[in-house]
Amino acid sequence: MTDKKNLRTPIVCVMGHVDHGKTTLLDKIRGTAIVSGEAGAITQHIGATEVPMDVIVEKLGDPKLRDRFMVPGLLFIDTPGHHAFTTLRSRGGALADLAIVVVDVNEGFKPQTYESLQILKRFKTPFVIVANKVDRINGWNPNRDMPFAATFKKQSEQVQSLLDNRLYEVIGELYNQGFAADRYDRVTNFQKALGVIPASAVTGEGIPDVLMVLLGLAQRFLESNLEYSATGPGVGTVLEVKEEKGLGATADVILYDGTLKKGDTVVIGSLGEPIQTKVRALLKPRELSEIRYESKFRQIKKVTAAVGVKISAPGLDDALAGAPLRVADEETLEEIVEQVKSEIDEVRIDTDSMGVMIKADTIGSLEALVHEFQKEEVPIRKAEVGDISHRDVVEVSTVEDPLYSVLIGFNVKLHADSKEFLQGAQGSNVKVFTNDVIYRLIEDYQEYVKKQQELAEKKIFETIIRPGRFKILPGCVFRQSKPAVVGVRVLGGVVRTNTDVMLENGNAVGKIKGLQSAGDNISSARVGMEVAMAIDGATVGRQIKEEDYLFVNVPERHAKVLEHEIFESLSSDEQETLERFLEIKRKGNPFWAK
Ligand code: GDP
Ligand code: MG
Repeated sequence: MTDKKNLRTPIVCVMGHVDHGKTTLLDKIRGTAIVSGEAGAITQHIGATEVPMDVIVEKLGDPKLRDRFMVPGLLFIDTPGHHAFTTLRSRGGALADLAIVVVDVNEGFKPQTYESLQILKRFKTPFVIVANKVDRINGWNPNRDMPFAATFKKQSEQVQSLLDNRLYEVIGELYNQGFAADRYDRVTNFQKALGVIPASAVTGEGIPDVLMVLLGLAQRFLESNLEYSATGPGVGTVLEVKEEKGLGATADVILYDGTLKKGDTVVIGSLGEPIQTKVRALLKPRELSEIRYESKFRQIKKVTAAVGVKISAPGLDDALAGAPLRVADEETLEEIVEQVKSEIDEVRIDTDSMGVMIKADTIGSLEALVHEFQKEEVPIRKAEVGDISHRDVVEVSTVEDPLYSVLIGFNVKLHADSKEFLQGAQGSNVKVFTNDVIYRLIEDYQEYVKKQQELAEKKIFETIIRPGRFKILPGCVFRQSKPAVVGVRVLGGVVRTNTDVMLENGNAVGKIKGLQSAGDNISSARVGMEVAMAIDGATVGRQIKEEDYLFVNVPERHAKVLEHEIFESLSSDEQETLERFLEIKRKGNPFWAK
């Protein structure tokens, strides 16, 4: 058996749609009443809570569990929306070892539920689904803190089948997202199928089951990931940089490997050169409480992974949320600075010379956003952490291509001066998309691209010279020359004034000066029409004669667009006329308009 002392606490991220019960669930697990103290009952900041094994064992009411699981406890991270998960990076991967996705069983899947699943899939993070708020099911008979099987038995048959139906919907949605899943007590192999645990964060029903399944997942996680340990130099991720009274800028850090001591030299990622500083104080919340609710922090000398800890040190102002923190000593300092630099650079993507600009609130969310946009083959010119500044909008306004004079903002604000700029003439070509759901941003951008392309196509459509074929009718020569005026029938496509015409052998004959139908001047004539045509530059009897077949002499550039870009949108007689025309042109030059 592995030495228990050196095993670090697994990190569990709680995800899911807003109001589905993440904070309440953690609250229940902790047995405190944090939710009621929250402004608007919405999690504003990231907090981490360590729940020691003893507390879990007590909740489960079975002391034998203490020996069955090596896990020292669980470190829960409550996330505002789903964003923290992407903030929580470790070496390009996810920081969380495990996750809980909370779904309101009465509401079903919502945008952030889907997004959570996508992120977990991408990082291959093991997780469970909590089908929360079962107590809201009509006729539910609550049984405080009871395991699911026991409380389920106490429900009426009707309530049981109501719950089962809701669970089937959840399982069906998971299936659509590419996950095999079942009610957790029907899952035989948690490596093959996800467990869906019916629970209520308010009554506590099913919560023992959640803890049991998590411990099982944690145990297996530890068995296969023993490279993380509680010894060695500390490695962590910055969650948030905050001003604290009397301390200046502090960094809330999740330490996921090794130890960190007061007085240690640490290297922390920033947008510029990595910060090198000495830890002035380590501040830890008490167990069973959260960083954000501690007004007075407890100073400690040393912390051991995994923990959430606040660091006070000089020069933290520029530290980045999502950036790595590493403990260094004299010998390793240079190497570690390089390492931190390269970890930050990993996120800076290879930017294209043309493309959109992306701004996001943290390194992790920027990385996720870039990943998703690249997957959709959207070129990215610049990707940065931070709000949308005046400089950004000015920069984007110089991009001419409407597809790329675009700013994509994820969970960021638009500065007042940038708003002003966008409303002015100079900024009118800039398109800004902001949202806090990644796939919404992708959808919005794609829809915009589609619209722009349709617009561009329409423009091409209007200006492009179209194919046309016509015949000079016998007995309809009204004037010999300067210009020649003849009666014609349009046999295919369309003829327009001011376009050049040629014979079937490819010889150019002149330009259509005017068209008349029943004495009226017209600008174009469609297939089937008989009209009078004035042709400048041709003489009847010399270049042209009665019963000649002529074509609109489509310029090469236009022919290319017709054949390669808008062919499908041409009518069938236009298509046929174009093909005949191209055949003539390519007799002389096989590469014409290719
Ligand atoms: P979060 O945004 O996901 O953190 O959601 P909260 O934990 O803040 O919960 C949102 C609301 O749903 C609060 O009013 C909770 O009291 C309520 N709620 C959460 N879980 C349950 C549950 O299991 N049953 C019932 N009836 N209400 C719940
Ligand atoms: Mg919350």
